[in-house]
Amino acid sequence: MKVIGLIGGMSWESTVKYYQIINEEVKRRLGGLHSVKCLLYSVDFAEIARYQAEGDWEGAGKLLGEVALSLEKGGADFIVICTNTMHNVIEYIEEKISIPILHIADATADQINQAGISAVGLLGTKYTMEQDFYKSRIESAGIHVLVPGIEDRETVNKIIYDELCLGKIEQSSRDYYKRVIGRLVERGAEGIILGCTEIGLLITQEDSEVPLFDTTVIHAIESVNQALDE
Ligand code: GLU
Repeated sequence: MKVIGLIGGMSWESTVKYYQIINEEVKRRLGGLHSVKCLLYSVDFAEIARYQAEGDWEGAGKLLGEVALSLEKGGADFIVICTNTMHNVIEYIEEKISIPILHIADATADQINQAGISAVGLLGTKYTMEQDFYKSRIESAGIHVLVPGIEDRETVNKIIYDELCLGKIEQSSRDYYKRVIGRLVERGAEGIILGCTEIGLLITQEDSEVPLFDTTVIHAIESVNQALDE
């Protein structure tokens, strides 16, 4: 089994899910007392969120590059960045290390293609929905990406930072997300990417008439595939 190097804490609410899903999957596949071999470097999310708010992606990238390097030195065979948004700085991380990074959008695009879906709605932070780094990666796999309108993007983003990353799960926010999903479906989305690792804490498949692609689950399971060479 390979050693997974997890960069977590963005936020820790979803890193808990990664650790749980990965271990459950290893146990399911290998049985008995088997569990994952991993290193977790959990950052202080307040520092990362400050870089984001200031638009200092280089600063954030350099910080996460050092984190990845320490995981490599500690024995990690590959890196899993436990957030969609911070894949924005993957180039800064890649240039610091010689082990591979398992990209969350590639794993997600594979699942969407396997489901035979060609147009998806994308929910995530405003950075993920508005900047190109994520959408272009999904679109390069032949999938059309729709994002919510400006007001919905603002509210979806606010709920992530003010509630989900703080462990607050509100029914009114769930209802709001369901309405945003409905609007994306009306515009032609055949599936929805939960493109922020905390959204699965709020929304599950029963909240949507179209298939949901929960990036936390997809990324965690793909990391087990890689760790077990399957
Ligand atoms: N975990 C979130 C994501 O998947 C947002 C937190 C962050 O900005 O990293 O994008």
